[in-house]
Amino acid sequence: PKYVYDFAEGNKELKDLLGGKGANLAEMSNLGLPVPPGFTITTEACRHYLAHGELPDGLADEITAHLAALERRMGKRLGEPDDPLLVSVRSGAKHSMPGMMETVLNVGLNDQSVAGLAAQSGDERFAWDSYRRLVQMFGKTVLDIDGGAFEDAIEAVKSAKGSTDDLDLTAADLSGLVDAFKKIVADHTGKPFPQDPREQLFLAVQAVFTSWNAPRAILYRRQERIPGDLGTAVSVCSMVFGNLGMDSGTGVAFTRDPATGQQGVYGDYLQNAQGEDVVAGIRNTVPLAELERIDPASYRELLGVMETLENHYRDLCDIEFTIERGKLWMLQTRVGKRTAAAAFRIADQLVDQGLIDLDEAVRRVTGDQLAQLMFPRFDEKARRHRIAHGMNASPGAAVGKAVFDSYTAIKWSRSGEDVILVRRETNPDDLDGMIAARGILTSRGGKTSHAAVVARGMGKTCVCGAEDLRVDTKNRRFTAPDGSVVEEGDVISIDGTNGNVYLGEVPVVPSPVVRYFDGEIDPEAADAGELVRAVHRIMAHADGVRRLGVRANADSPDDSSRARRMGAKGVGLCRTEHMFLGDRRSLVERLILADTDKERDQALAALLPLQREDFVGIFAAMDGLPVTVRLLDPPLHEFLPDITELSVRVAVAESRGEKYENDLRLLQAVHRLHEQNPMLGLRGVRLGLVVPGLFTMQVQAIAEACAQRLREGGDPRPEVMIPLVGTVQELEIVRDDALEVLRKVGEDYGVELECPIGTMIELPRAALTAGEIAERAEFFSFGTNDLTQTTWGFSRDDVEASFFSAYLERGVFGVSPFESLDVDGVGRLIRVAVEESRAARPGIKLGICGEHGGDPDSVHFFHDCGLDYVSCSPFRVPVARLEAGRAAL
Ligand code: ADP
Ligand code: MG
Ligand code: MG
Repeated sequence: PKYVYDFAEGNKELKDLLGGKGANLAEMSNLGLPVPPGFTITTEACRHYLAHGELPDGLADEITAHLAALERRMGKRLGEPDDPLLVSVRSGAKHSMPGMMETVLNVGLNDQSVAGLAAQSGDERFAWDSYRRLVQMFGKTVLDIDGGAFEDAIEAVKSAKGSTDDLDLTAADLSGLVDAFKKIVADHTGKPFPQDPREQLFLAVQAVFTSWNAPRAILYRRQERIPGDLGTAVSVCSMVFGNLGMDSGTGVAFTRDPATGQQGVYGDYLQNAQGEDVVAGIRNTVPLAELERIDPASYRELLGVMETLENHYRDLCDIEFTIERGKLWMLQTRVGKRTAAAAFRIADQLVDQGLIDLDEAVRRVTGDQLAQLMFPRFDEKARRHRIAHGMNASPGAAVGKAVFDSYTAIKWSRSGEDVILVRRETNPDDLDGMIAARGILTSRGGKTSHAAVVARGMGKTCVCGAEDLRVDTKNRRFTAPDGSVVEEGDVISIDGTNGNVYLGEVPVVPSPVVRYFDGEIDPEAADAGELVRAVHRIMAHADGVRRLGVRANADSPDDSSRARRMGAKGVGLCRTEHMFLGDRRSLVERLILADTDKERDQALAALLPLQREDFVGIFAAMDGLPVTVRLLDPPLHEFLPDITELSVRVAVAESRGEKYENDLRLLQAVHRLHEQNPMLGLRGVRLGLVVPGLFTMQVQAIAEACAQRLREGGDPRPEVMIPLVGTVQELEIVRDDALEVLRKVGEDYGVELECPIGTMIELPRAALTAGEIAERAEFFSFGTNDLTQTTWGFSRDDVEASFFSAYLERGVFGVSPFESLDVDGVGRLIRVAVEESRAARPGIKLGICGEHGGDPDSVHFFHDCGLDYVSCSPFRVPVARLEAGRAAL
């Protein structure tokens, strides 16, 4: 294979091979922009090097040939004593990994060529400055010497001169530093700093390859879910110099504001500087707008380049540039990262500018970005005092009193306090405290730490790894770098969207995007705001192009109305278990305790009208749209009192000689119904088969509610769904009973009841026998939460808190299979079921109702499978709509 590409041979589509940096350098140079000539070594060469520990055959020759061509073009030879060509050796992977890998500048300088460079440039200081940078960067990156050693040496020289500014160092100082640096190298490696330019080049190339596997790069990739086996490309680029005096300099810029999307001039510039100085914060940069005064010609040229890039990439670009004695050079560009709000606004603006169409605008934004815009946020206008910054592990804005252990979190939250649980790190014992808290703050651990994983699973705000905080759980306080001390009970605010931690209460406001979805902001109104207008326009287009329907999981009229406002076209999962709690618990207890048919029938008869009212409200809220009602699913014991509490009650009553008949019967029932493994026990359709009258009562309530709505002139569209079916026989039995009830109610009310009966597919056996089951089911809904549990043999409630973080950290999976559908395993079952059910019953309606219905990647998979709809929580409905649109493009 060909391992080396001249900039002229590449283009921006070749990121896999040339890395983002190499591909875009090629693109810019082909656009005719001023890019210093050079070439890029492919990621394939890197992969070979990392796998075999040596350069692939032929690579050295190819590099030599490209170097020779570069030397001819530049009219100088690499490291030649009297007029050296110098190059930079730069890392650049497919996905940008800022600051994670290495770059070496000024390769080609040595004890002779430094004099040549001085003579050619007429600037001795510049030549020594460049040489000391080479030895320093080479020492750190290639020879693995701790950077502190070099920085200490610089500090020593500066403080001897009583100066704090690098610019005060003279040629003699810098030449002295080169000697000191070379000595550091010799001391650390036992060998002198390599003087042979070619050797410098090859060692630097290999060091860049190796930096792909630096620990921090590995960590970064894991957190950003970037595959670990891609490797990095290496670009070798002839040097231009921003450190040639005050008419030179280096800078970074964005073509628009990455925070808001506003067009304008954003960036920083630093005179007489090279490379990283501008971002390293060593010296004070000036805003880019100042360049207009410093060097108007270069400034105008830069604005022209920025416009060219925006028009060409049709997107926000960020760029790195250098000015050498008044001549502008482009050193890097890429489509820039941006905030969620900017992503929507930029896409919308680019449509207005005619640079992209609406399809492309929909592709340019993501469901994750939309979700971020929907969280409540801290009021931007409010004053705040930031005391720390950590990882944005789980979004949202949370305010509460700091507590340092789970026990206190639970105790305080029970008495109505909002608390933030602060820990060094969390472990499974903290689970109850995490549930009780409004938010979680830890000083250790990354995005796959226990705190982060569990918080995301619960949808709870979490900032983790705020390493600047000293958390002292024993004394119940933490200390921030600015000296602020937060004691137990002091209020703090944490922002899980950007990782900030604030002292005191920062007011929280609902997001304008949610207010828009809720119908509180009219997108056409003059004061709707650019963001809302952009979201509205992009969502409308996504709705127009998507094939996948979106419904919501909603159990009450309020939730149903909200879901409808959010754009749900029906309820895909109406759970009925909540309807058995609260005041109705005693009725359910009566049902469970019934000894005779009569007692049981009475209990059911008492529940019937209550259930009917529940459904009337939901059918009204979803008038004209389907509502899939799932018959009772969880194990009965969930409706009985806690076993310990009850035992205590019985014992106390007994000792006081009070009556405890009833409690004793309850206790016996609890014992009878107790299961080692309730998730796999008496639940779902199994209840329908062994608790006479339960399911038929529910179906009757649905049928009567439907009849009542019809009489009221409504348009109810109920669907009855049977949970946890494993074999068609179970379904047949329940279905026959249900059909009989529907017929009878229809007769009694004198109305025609339309009510499809279907089943959930949430057991592997159901998926594998979907063809047979489909013959008795008018629709399927994949219950992907249970299907994931039963396919993996994980109990979600137990494993997420115990070992998932270890699994994520060790790379067993990149993301929890409860967050994002396991396409290879669970997904395969779904595909089998889709295919076989459609073969058995063409036109069968297929949906999914699990958390995955609102997960972007999963939505794309469901689209590919050909499902009819996804159903997710009301709040995720807009995310699902957008991603369904993106999947269709
Ligand atoms: P990173 O990926 O960390 O941004 P780069 O390879 O872009 O690393 O190098 C960092 C900086 O070094 C660049 O922004 C640029 O200022 C400087 N640099 C790299 N190559 C050259 C070059 N050929 N001439 C001048 N400066 C360079
Ligand atoms: Mg760069
Ligand atoms: Mg289930």
